[in-house]
Amino acid sequence: MKLFTNKKKLQKEIKNINNISFVPTMGALHKGHESLIKKSVKESNKTIVSIFVNPKQFENKKDFNSYPKTYKNDIKILKKLKVNYLYKPSYSDIYNFRTKNKIFVDKFSKKLCGQHRKGHFKGVINVVNRLIEIIKPKKILLGKKDFQQLYLIKKHIEKNRLNIKVVPCKTIRDKNFIAYSSRLRKLNRYQNLNLIKIIKVLRNYKNNLICKKTRYNFNKIKRDLLYAGAKKVDYIELIDLKTLKKPKRNVYNLFFAFYIGKVRFIDNF
Ligand code: AMP
Repeated sequence: MKLFTNKKKLQKEIKNINNISFVPTMGALHKGHESLIKKSVKESNKTIVSIFVNPKQFENKKDFNSYPKTYKNDIKILKKLKVNYLYKPSYSDIYNFRTKNKIFVDKFSKKLCGQHRKGHFKGVINVVNRLIEIIKPKKILLGKKDFQQLYLIKKHIEKNRLNIKVVPCKTIRDKNFIAYSSRLRKLNRYQNLNLIKIIKVLRNYKNNLICKKTRYNFNKIKRDLLYAGAKKVDYIELIDLKTLKKPKRNVYNLFFAFYIGKVRFIDNF
């Protein structure tokens, strides 16, 4: 695996490769990242992974500074998975140039996480746009765990008529149905047990909805989550994945975001 921290050197290396797949990450790699990378390595000619914790998508500095970093272990994982290139840029390498594409932020950004994290999605689209202008990949692989992010990046790519295929990837979960997430490294044992309880409540709730044993009652489920150990609940919403609105059919996911201590967790199923 070749490591690049400088975009000019990277571009020189990959300029003759016309079929490169890209997996953007913020590092602290786990089994979720691994499945995206494995898929890319299996299905593409060359794979490039980026590790960049983007300050522009964090609302506060403390959260940014405390984002988990496990660089040595990340390198081991990437080598094991036979990744071709790692791009680990500095802040200025990403932000010291003018972009060609116009940042497009679809109105879906105003829902769900958008109501609680001002400027977050603009920050995400800004950095992903810069990364794709540098790398010029043919494919970009993104996780469905961050469905809103995936959707908004796809819309930005379509609006700018970029020739990049967006590949949505399934969410990888542990035996308790908890989606792997870098931030979970920050939970202690007690908080981990609470997370297991919370996910159980949410799963039961969704299953009962499908069996029509219950009706959607946000206040009740929010109370149940707080009782199970959540510190704060940002949202719990049912969304039709096609219309992105409240479901009228039986095809929907339960989207949620909550805090355990200072750790924010999002997922949908
Ligand atoms: P992050 O490093 O959190 O920015 O995530 C990088 C990519 O990995 C994004 O496309 C995420 O949606 C994806 N991802 C994160 N967690 C998981 C997971 N548990 N399963 C599958 N993909 C994931």
